[in-house]
Amino acid sequence: MRKKCLLANWKMLGDTQQISTLVEQLIVGISSGAPNSEVVLFPPAPYLRLVAEAIKATSIALGAQTVAEFAPGAYTGEVAAEMLIDVGCRYVLVGHSERRTLFAENDAKISGKFSRAMKLGLIPVLCIGETLKEWQAEETFAVLTRQLTAVFAEANDLKDFIIAYEPVWAIGTGKVASPEHVQSVHRFIRAILTDVFHLEAQKIPIVYGGSVKAQNFAALLAMEDIDGGLIGGASWQAAEFIEMSKMCLI
Ligand code: PEP
Repeated sequence: MRKKCLLANWKMLGDTQQISTLVEQLIVGISSGAPNSEVVLFPPAPYLRLVAEAIKATSIALGAQTVAEFAPGAYTGEVAAEMLIDVGCRYVLVGHSERRTLFAENDAKISGKFSRAMKLGLIPVLCIGETLKEWQAEETFAVLTRQLTAVFAEANDLKDFIIAYEPVWAIGTGKVASPEHVQSVHRFIRAILTDVFHLEAQKIPIVYGGSVKAQNFAALLAMEDIDGGLIGGASWQAAEFIEMSKMCLI
């Protein structure tokens, strides 16, 4: 059975007080020790240590929102995978659409970040998804194929990662893709994973992201190939996020 993953992307939001309060609420509300589900918090980089300390005696895991594709060195402003591990991260987001569009991260750069994370033992969450224009032009499958094969070209013996399908038109817009649409896309992604990783592909979680809330999450989770969610806005509301975490217990 694949694990269910609930991932909280806090983006570039919050301060010490807001983040401490939210984490304390989540620690109280999220049941610990469920073997087949994983809750991961992705705070902004300056708060990683604070969150790591707060969750250290819980089953909640920590992740970063991006990582450098380089080994430590003269790269002012960048954060190395080694540093993320040092402050307690087990996961890292790679290729979030905001990184792709606002920071010009192309497939080659994202592939470098993915490989670097895997090499150092961080679990990458590879975010992929089509824009509204690509969706309207029925290019979704072509875009996803390009985004996936760019990363797997040099990494076909690697298996411990998560895929997050996030249609760009659904992120932060309130427009959720229908469970049937997401299932058909996830099935397509699983077929590509199967070509590369064969039977191991069955173990790779594929989560959905894009305006997910407690109210629409259950129907998404009921689909065969939807293994959880990457949650932006709703992960700032403790009660919502705790409710979603309960749906992931299997
Ligand atoms: C995200 O930031 O990855 C995301 C899915 O955001 P939201 O849930 O707000 O759409």
